Amino acid sequence: MRVAELRQQFPILGRTVKDKPLVYFDNAATSQKPQCVIDALTHYYSHYNANIHRGIHTLAEEATMAYEATRSAVQDFIGAASAEEIIFTRGTTEAINLVAHTWGRENVGAGDEIIISGMEHHSNIVPWQIICEEKNAILKVIPVLDNGELDMDAFKQLLSNKVKLVAIVQVSNSLGTVNPVKEIIAAAHQVGAKVLVDGAQSAVHLDINVQDLDCDFFAFSGHKVYGPTGIGALYGKKMLLDTMPVFQGGGEMIKEVTFEKTTYNDLPYKYEAGTPNIADTIALKTALDFIAKIGKNQIRKHEDELLAYATVQLQAIPGLTIIGQAKNKVGLVSFVIDNVHPQDIGVLLDNMGIAVRTGHHCTQPLMKRFGIPGTVRASFALYNQKEEIDVLIAGLHKTIKMLA
Ligand code: PMP
Repeated sequence: MRVAELRQQFPILGRTVKDKPLVYFDNAATSQKPQCVIDALTHYYSHYNANIHRGIHTLAEEATMAYEATRSAVQDFIGAASAEEIIFTRGTTEAINLVAHTWGRENVGAGDEIIISGMEHHSNIVPWQIICEEKNAILKVIPVLDNGELDMDAFKQLLSNKVKLVAIVQVSNSLGTVNPVKEIIAAAHQVGAKVLVDGAQSAVHLDINVQDLDCDFFAFSGHKVYGPTGIGALYGKKMLLDTMPVFQGGGEMIKEVTFEKTTYNDLPYKYEAGTPNIADTIALKTALDFIAKIGKNQIRKHEDELLAYATVQLQAIPGLTIIGQAKNKVGLVSFVIDNVHPQDIGVLLDNMGIAVRTGHHCTQPLMKRFGIPGTVRASFALYNQKEEIDVLIAGLHKTIKMLA
């Protein structure tokens, strides 16, 4: 992969921070955007800004076509059987909440169980807690092993016909662990449970095929796949989406409204009330096309090399412990250093132009499991280089010296 050439396509990578060249290692929080994505936004607003679906004028038609083209692009990106199964949402969080408040409200009852894991992001914990509280259902948690993998034996012990849903992250944003979701889905289906996969971190690194996985729901966010913020998608099996109750009420999601009764629109519009985020949806396709052009396999190979290189370099630093040493990981490394608070490391690295994330990464129960307040997390993208890891390692040595 020609990383130096690809970097040229990301204007932000040319800037400095605190008079140092930017080293951006916060890609798990949000990735940077290539010029083509930025251009797609400007082009939409300068050439064919219009509300979609309802208009018959040229601008409305062009905007509608571009918006729906993204739906087909997302269908391809995650291997869905049909575009009707793709619902646009603000992101992963809204997608999970949509399932909780529609499917969850209707299908989870008193005494039923929902299984999540000990490495879930808060957005795949709290919506299920809300439903469990409301319905008197029980939330069960798959434990995390010391190396950052799921305890699959314990998971199998948790399965019974009381379980209505397993909501599981495919790639941990705090550990980098790639979970065996296909195996989890098959086991959950054996007891009649549905499975929601949180793909917020996996969509950018792994080839996703929801039909092969056989998951019932899959959620991801555009801003982590080189696309804009404020747009993401929920995949749901048509059979489920068709029979689930509606989410928000308003324009677009209806067939006919009278004061006595309202009938609802077909999929996917049934779940897309109101004027959607048209510009960002359109630019998401540009981001997905950008990834496809490079090839996910090429990107993964490059990120794996960065991960291997960073892991060796970091492990050589005295007092540093990597949190999350799963056999199957993406390009993300979380660590702590003896007697130094992650926050202090983050501040000093920022002074050197290095952007890492520090803290609990919206996985407080996982931090508690490891008995730490948080970690320093460096997460890699297609535009990162080994030289930048060298800058991070030198920065860490300096930081330790300053804080010792
Ligand atoms: N799940 C995981 C694993 C995540 O990493 C994130 C984002 N940090 C989310 C869910 C939530 O995504 P968003 O904030 O884009 O809705």
